[in-house]
Amino acid sequence: MTITSQTAIQYIKGVGPHRAELFQNLGITLAGDLLEYFPRGYDFQPDLMRTGELYVNCTATIIGEVITIDVNRRSKPPRVDITVEDADGKFQLSWFNAGYIKDKLIPGDIISAWGKVNSYRNKLQMTNPAWLKVENIDEYLSNYGSVQCRYPATAELASNEISRTIRRCLPDLLNQVEEYYPANYRQDRKLPTRKEALQWIHQPEDQEQADQARRSLVYDELLQMQLAVAMRKARNKYSLPACALPSSDEIDRRIRRLLPFTLTGAQDRVINEIVADLATSEPMNRLLQGDVGSGKTVVALYALLLTIANRKQAAIMAPTEILAVQHYNEIQKYLTDSQVKITLLKGGTSGTARKQLLDEISNGQIDIVVGTQALLQQDVNFNELGLVIIDEQHKFGVKQREAFRSKATAPHYLVMTATPIPRTLAMTVFGDLDVSIIDELPPGRKPVETRWVRNDRLPEAYSGLRRLVKQGRQAYFVYPRIEQEEIDTEDPWLNPAQQLKAAVDEHRHLQQDIFPELNVGLLHGQMPAEEKKQVMADFVSGKINILVSTVVIEVGVNVPNATVMIIEHADRYGLAQLHQLRGRIGRGAQQSYCLLFGNPRSEEGRARLEIMTRTNDGFKIAEEDLKLRGPGEFFGTSQHGMPGMKIADLTRDFDLLNMARRDAQSLIKDDPHLTNPDFSALKRDMLQRYSQCLGLIDIS
Ligand code: ADP
Ligand code: MG
Repeated sequence: MTITSQTAIQYIKGVGPHRAELFQNLGITLAGDLLEYFPRGYDFQPDLMRTGELYVNCTATIIGEVITIDVNRRSKPPRVDITVEDADGKFQLSWFNAGYIKDKLIPGDIISAWGKVNSYRNKLQMTNPAWLKVENIDEYLSNYGSVQCRYPATAELASNEISRTIRRCLPDLLNQVEEYYPANYRQDRKLPTRKEALQWIHQPEDQEQADQARRSLVYDELLQMQLAVAMRKARNKYSLPACALPSSDEIDRRIRRLLPFTLTGAQDRVINEIVADLATSEPMNRLLQGDVGSGKTVVALYALLLTIANRKQAAIMAPTEILAVQHYNEIQKYLTDSQVKITLLKGGTSGTARKQLLDEISNGQIDIVVGTQALLQQDVNFNELGLVIIDEQHKFGVKQREAFRSKATAPHYLVMTATPIPRTLAMTVFGDLDVSIIDELPPGRKPVETRWVRNDRLPEAYSGLRRLVKQGRQAYFVYPRIEQEEIDTEDPWLNPAQQLKAAVDEHRHLQQDIFPELNVGLLHGQMPAEEKKQVMADFVSGKINILVSTVVIEVGVNVPNATVMIIEHADRYGLAQLHQLRGRIGRGAQQSYCLLFGNPRSEEGRARLEIMTRTNDGFKIAEEDLKLRGPGEFFGTSQHGMPGMKIADLTRDFDLLNMARRDAQSLIKDDPHLTNPDFSALKRDMLQRYSQCLGLIDIS
């Protein structure tokens, strides 16, 4: 039977229904998936030599028959000596601390051993060589020299089993491989053929060949992604036009009159970029990145007002209702002296109230609608939607941007994120967006001073905090969980020191035992919305001095007078989250302090806390985060709907990514639908992978 890429894995010889399931756990259902199941590394076995050819310090593989097995228990450490014999004579192998070997072999077995040769008492031998028992010497010799690939494996499905299966179908599959590029394109980029690359990645002769194969396949993968992104961008360009929203000196003056401060240079620059986009009927697709507190809201406000000046409506979509409310309040504050009508569309609103709101939206009486994903519901119809602002894009994913667009008009899109995205990732997930960055904080901000503190210094932190509160400052305490879990006192394994402190319990402790003279508030996600609102209001007004909380304060809360944040169990959080949390302080003119308590058990945990003390720069932190965690976290399919990478490593393959991006852009520039038949196999594979998540279905 000839195996094709569509052959179900269970029909490959030696697999069957049971193993097929194990393969499926690795995401392999078809033979074609095997071809793109890449090794993580390789073991190249040394040359096969006869024992008479060996010399001190050479690395070699020998094959011989086991003659004697001696276990020397009195030697220190205990030693197993095996004498083997080949055509050239006898040779000794020794292992320390490896008594189990004597149970695996008996005299007469054939053994293959490889390693470095040394001399002991004037005789050559190998010490602690790698070895295996050779069951079938002919098969062993005929496969010898083929490298051992290390495939990502599971407990039930070992790497060498995967390897054997791949070896079985590789010749058939390689025969059917279609080339992605015409010869001159490939040669200009020093790429092997795709067939060669796929063969070499599974059966390299040496590391260099494996490296070449990897480079080529990484490029293929990144080019597919960049093509998808470039096509999507080109498609947006040629799809429904948006309404041009031109500005003028008069409009600019009127908008700036509403702002209580002068914009920073970075804000002005970003606004110019947005104004230029909005002036044309090509829909804007812009990502606005700015660290927490960098002043994105005002920039968004400017875009909103420009839209309304052009007599169009605008929508702001936030990931949670709390944030939607905050945006609504914040923007309303700026608008008190204007005629602009803004409304909050809440998920809970129903019946006639909702109907009336929807009517006002659809007949154009309302200028700005703020809400959550609820804005995407079927019955929400805008009269003339000119601009959509999406906050915290990373919580939504690429798909959502489609939903508004599929309605009658194509609005302009501005996506805001306070999670700085490393540039490699910005080019991928958000690759079809133009990027604006606010890289300057409003004047008068002092960088937060961050310290990593030993747990036993908590009392000192309390007294320092008391001093600051006496001076009128406020503070946050952050805990990883809401309530202490029931402690099972019978459980002998439970170490009380490992228990995580919880917000509810610490709130009680801090209020009663530590700061009885102060007002300590509590905020967490399971409190009723009304109560949360009251607590936040009391914190904003200064009635509450210290707010004990879980990560619910992570995004959006703005209390410039809060200048201290104490995070216990700080090692429990990821870098991005710590940075977001810390962004709640340092928002006013006073010096702010962030104290990280935590006793990380892993190297990575230590690295995170150390990075936090070293920099306040969100982009640096994001790059470090990417290095520590890998792109999976940013890239999780559930979050973005983008497939993960099979071989490319976005933390390392930056140069190839750039190359692929340039190539994709120039290919699409001349041929927006990539109709050139030279690239048809590439296009087909690209669409198979990306058409759904990027909404490219119409292009195929
Ligand atoms: P972000 O949304 O990027 O986290 P905000 O837009 O909420 O930041 O701004 C943070 C704080 O800085 C707000 O209190 C805002 O009023 C203030 N702010 C923004 N821009 C300026 C500016 N140019 N000058 C002074 N204060 C500013
Ligand atoms: Mg904000």
